[in-house]
Amino acid sequence: MAYATRFLIGGELVSPQSKEFLDVEDPATGRVIAQLPAGGAADIDRAVAAARDCFERGAWTGKLPQERAAAMWKLADLLAENLDELAQLDVIDNGMPMMFAKATVNSCIGTLRYYAGYCNKIYGVTADISGGGREMHAYTRQEPVGVVGAITPWNAPLAVVVNKIAPAIAAGCTVVVKPAEQTSLSALRFAELVAQTDLPAGLINIVTGYGVSAGAALANHSDVDKLTFTGSTGVGKSLVQAAAGNLKRLTLELGGKSPVFVFDDADLEQAIPACAMAIFANSGQVCFAGSRLYVQRKRFDEVVERVGKAAKAMRLGSGIDAQTQLGPVVSGKQMERVMEYIESGLSEGAELVVGGRRHGDEGYFVEPTVFANPSSKDLKIVREEIFGPVLVAMPFEDMDEVATLANSTPFGLGSGVFTSNVSTAHKAARRIRAGNVWINCYGVLDKAMPFGGYKQSGWGRENGGAGLEAFLETKSVYTML
Ligand code: NAD
Repeated sequence: MAYATRFLIGGELVSPQSKEFLDVEDPATGRVIAQLPAGGAADIDRAVAAARDCFERGAWTGKLPQERAAAMWKLADLLAENLDELAQLDVIDNGMPMMFAKATVNSCIGTLRYYAGYCNKIYGVTADISGGGREMHAYTRQEPVGVVGAITPWNAPLAVVVNKIAPAIAAGCTVVVKPAEQTSLSALRFAELVAQTDLPAGLINIVTGYGVSAGAALANHSDVDKLTFTGSTGVGKSLVQAAAGNLKRLTLELGGKSPVFVFDDADLEQAIPACAMAIFANSGQVCFAGSRLYVQRKRFDEVVERVGKAAKAMRLGSGIDAQTQLGPVVSGKQMERVMEYIESGLSEGAELVVGGRRHGDEGYFVEPTVFANPSSKDLKIVREEIFGPVLVAMPFEDMDEVATLANSTPFGLGSGVFTSNVSTAHKAARRIRAGNVWINCYGVLDKAMPFGGYKQSGWGRENGGAGLEAFLETKSVYTML
């Protein structure tokens, strides 16, 4: 298979200025299957200059709102025509099962169409004010923040790239994207598709490369007005420093250690598969993965046993195989990291219910793993984000404990509540400090609903109107009548 290997800068597919490369590994085999250019500061400079030029010329904002919407719809149609290939690239690169990959590429199409609808729905307000005793006409305008730098992670490669681009361009911004070095194949193919459209040159620019070079160059760039980042909490904190240079606006979607509560009265037919998929979907490499399972004491043993059975029954394999439910983790480094957490669970005192080992000796597969009854809530597997298929189950007594248990973490991204009592469900939802609470389901996402985290899970929200506002500035206009 031939892969796209050029950057998209100023509407052209260009060769990098940097002479560095990054290896593309298939995590199902561990073999290097391609090399992609690793851009450096010079490539980022070029991309930011192209984005700035497009913005200042008004090449995009000068178009009518319905023209911009139509162009976004056309790009969505192009993704739909190439859905299978884009999904295949994410499978090869990330290891995710094909069905999951197709769903994420489909979500890209939905995102572009959803935000296309906002192009002619950006409103200010009018206000009656007392301007020094004179009659005034005052109103606000919502204007694009300018040039956006977008830095994305490897766990949902194309989906996160498009999730940044769509609201940014709907708001009238221009964008430079730096995808994750582990999974850049679909972003570069997407770049080729963008180059086929008549979107203005410089509206969308894509440069692949390492975080410490290309990523840092983008984050520190003094001509970038806004940074939008999805990734680890550690790197997110370093971007706060980087943004300080020119006080660029910053949205952060970071990590989590999300709790799921199963009350005595829950419908277990519904709760068991949902609790299993909350952690095992995409091999646990989901920022809102439900990695802490709290079960009300009376049904603790039953739930743990049944979630363990569900884990054991999962079919591991290459994401290309249509039967696969669980692919490998993304890289050898990630597999080692996950295995270290499993070792720590074993040595620090947690009961291993199922899993706990590598699967096979080719590629980076980790068995879906369930721990129960950790000796203390301070164990690393209870506190830290593992980002792998590892669940830790603990009993709880009653509603009074929900807030303490749920919120005993620096994170606040996802959470789940299973109960057949509507009052229990909403009481719990109020007590949990997290950006998302799923009741009798887990991980449902919709473009219309804001997504983001409390505490160290991030700053700001994506999706919905809030996702658009993150790319807008408010201007107040005063007229003396
Ligand atoms: P990461 O933070 O290591 O990398 C993310 C991106 O940042 C990559 O493109 C990387 O090249 C870049 N980067 C790394 N160092 C940089 C630096 N110094 N300056 C600028 N850019 C830099 O994260 P990851 O390992 O790719 O992704 C996993 C993490 O992402 C997990 O913690 C997960 O929870 C989080 N995540 C969060 C969400 C969300 O929406 N909240 C979604 C997906 C993943």
